[in-house]
Amino acid sequence: MVKDVELPELDYQSLGLTVGLEIHQQLATKTKLFCECPAELSDEEHTSFERRLRPTRSEMGEVDVAALFEWKKGRVYEYEAPINHSCLVEADEEPPHPINREAVIIAMAIAKALNSWIVDEIHVMRKVVIDGSNTSGFQRTAIVALGGYISVGGKKYSIETIAVEEDAARKVKEEGLRTVYRLDRLGIPLIEISTGPDIHDPQEAYEVALAIGRLLRLTGRVKRGLGTIRQDLNVSIKGGAITEIKGVQRLDLIPKVIAYEALRQVKLLEIKEELVSRGAKKEEILAQAPVDVTDVFKNSKSKIIRKVLSSGGRVYAVKIPKFGGLLGKELVPGRRFGTELADYARFWAGVGGIFHSDELPKYGISETEVNEVNKILKVDPKLDAFVLVAEKEERALKALEAVVKRAAAALDGVPAETRAALEDGTTKYLRPRPGKARMYPETDIPPLEITEGMHREADKIKPEPLEAKIRRFREEYKLSNELIEQVIRDVRLDLIEKLMERYKEVIPPKVIASIFTVTLRGLKREGVNIDSITDNQLEELVDMIAKGEIAKEAAEDLLKLAAERPSESLRKLAREKGFTSISKEEAERIIELIIKDNLNVVLERKERSMGLIMGKVMSKLRGKIDGKIVAEMVRKKLEEIISKNRKK
Ligand SMILES: [Zn+2]
Repeated sequence: MVKDVELPELDYQSLGLTVGLEIHQQLATKTKLFCECPAELSDEEHTSFERRLRPTRSEMGEVDVAALFEWKKGRVYEYEAPINHSCLVEADEEPPHPINREAVIIAMAIAKALNSWIVDEIHVMRKVVIDGSNTSGFQRTAIVALGGYISVGGKKYSIETIAVEEDAARKVKEEGLRTVYRLDRLGIPLIEISTGPDIHDPQEAYEVALAIGRLLRLTGRVKRGLGTIRQDLNVSIKGGAITEIKGVQRLDLIPKVIAYEALRQVKLLEIKEELVSRGAKKEEILAQAPVDVTDVFKNSKSKIIRKVLSSGGRVYAVKIPKFGGLLGKELVPGRRFGTELADYARFWAGVGGIFHSDELPKYGISETEVNEVNKILKVDPKLDAFVLVAEKEERALKALEAVVKRAAAALDGVPAETRAALEDGTTKYLRPRPGKARMYPETDIPPLEITEGMHREADKIKPEPLEAKIRRFREEYKLSNELIEQVIRDVRLDLIEKLMERYKEVIPPKVIASIFTVTLRGLKREGVNIDSITDNQLEELVDMIAKGEIAKEAAEDLLKLAAERPSESLRKLAREKGFTSISKEEAERIIELIIKDNLNVVLERKERSMGLIMGKVMSKLRGKIDGKIVAEMVRKKLEEIISKNRKK
C-alpha cells in the first residue's frame, strides 16, 4: 500500500471527490495497428523529415481555437523515421492498412473479462491531436466494447468504453519552436479502458488501477515495463470542474496526484469566494490593458530585465484588480496561484515566466520600482495586484492577455483544463479541455466485422477471474496466503504463473513464487535494479534449477549478475562465474575434506559442531547443490565419524 506523509488531510467524502480512470496499455502484438511494421521501439538508423501543423480549423474543439492556432503558428515538427520500424503509413504518405486483427482479439478478451458488451463491427474514428505527435494530425481509435464492470474489494466499478488505438510518436527533443518526434512508437496498438466516475477516494483509485493493470497482464498479451502503461485521471470535487490529468506513468503516484488535484480545486474555490467577497468583477478584470512600464526599469538591477532590454525587448505590466495577496496563495506544495498564471503565459505566448506583485520586491526588482508600477497602474497595494512580463513586445502583450483571461476565470472557480502529471505528484497546465465534437470517421479504413471465430480466439486468451486464480494457487500449487498476496500483486504475475505451471512436477511452485517475490524484493532492498532483469533471464534461472544445473541457493547471486548485465544469457553468466552445480559424490568428497581439516573440533564438540562444519561447507558449495541435501550429507558424515570414534 502506498502511503505518503506529505498527502494533504482532506475529507474526500464531504468534498464530493469524483475520479474516473483512463488506462492506456500497449498490446504485445507482432505488428502495429495500421501497418506491418514491428510493434516495438528501436534506436536503429533513421531518415528525417519535417512538417508543420496541418488540421483545419473546423476539425478542432470549440475551446479557444483561434488562440490555439495563433500559438501553433511557426511551430515545426521534425520526425525521425527508423528504417525498419516505420513505413509510409507512419509518414502519412500512404493510407493506413486494415486494422490489426490480433489487437482487436486481445482487446475483446480483456472486454470479456470486464463483462463488457462487444460491438458487432469495428469502426475506426479520427481523434484530433494538436501537439504534432501524429504525422496525420489525428489519432485513430476504434471502440471494441461498451459497458461492463470490475470488482475490487467487494465493490463494482463501471467500465464505460474499451477501445483500441494507435500510440503516438515518441518525443525525443523540444527546443523553442522545434519539436523532434521518433516514429517507432507511432502506431503501436494500445487498449484504452475508461471507467465510470465511481471512485471517491485517492487510495481507491490506486486499487482500481492496480486491478485493471493486473487483469491486462493476465492475458499475457500486453507489454510490460515503464512507458508501456499510462493512466489518465479525470478528477473533480463538488463545485469544481473536471480536470483531465494526462500521463501518470507510475501506479503509486496516483493517490498523490489525485490528493493534490483535490487540494488545488479546494484552494481555487477559496480564491473565488474571497474574490466574490471583495466585490471582484470579471468584466473589470478583462478590461485591464497592459501598460508599457519600460521606463521604470531603465536602470534596473534585475539581470533578467536588463538582458531583455538590451536585446530590444520591453517591460509590460497589467493590473489584476482585487487580487492582492491571492497570487502568492499556495495551491499545492511548490505551486501558487501565480504559478497557474505563469503556466498560461508560457503556453499561450512562449515566454519564460512572469513576475507578480505578491513576490516583489525580489529578483533584483526594487521596492521603488514596484511603487512606480503601482502608481502608473493605479494599483492599491493593499487590495490589487499586478503582473509584469519582460519580453519582445508582441509576446509580452500576448502573455499578459493570457494572464488576464486566467485571472478572470478565477471567478468561475476551477477552469476545465487538461493538465500534465509531474514527477512530484503536482500537475501543470497542458491545454484547454477539448470540446465534445472531436471524433470523425476514418474513411480510409473499412469496418471490421467481429466474427464467431474471433470470439472463440478471444475466449482462449480471456484471463480467468482473480478469485479462481487464488483458489488454484492455494489448492493446486499449495502457496501460502502470504505468498499468494504477493504473487497476485506482482507485475510479473503472468510469467510466475507460466513457470509454476511448466515446472510444477520438478520444482515446488512455492519455490518459484518465492524467487519472484521474497528473493527479488530482498535484492531490491539491497539496491539491486531488479527492473532491468529480463523475463528471459528469469525463465532461464528457473529452467536451470529444474534441470539441476544450479542449486536454488544460487538464485540470489545469479539475479544480481542478471541485473548488471540484462542483455546476457543467464546460462552464460552462470558458466562464466562458476555457478555450475556439482555431483553428490564431488560434494561428499569436499565434506570429508572439511571434516578432516577440523577433526579436533568435531571430536571435541561432537553433534554440536554441525553448525560450524555446515558453515564451512556451504561457503564452498553454495549455489552448486541444494542446501538441504548438503545438510543431510554433513549430518550423516558427522554421525559416522562420531560413532566410529566412540567404538574405539
Ligand atoms: Zn509502418
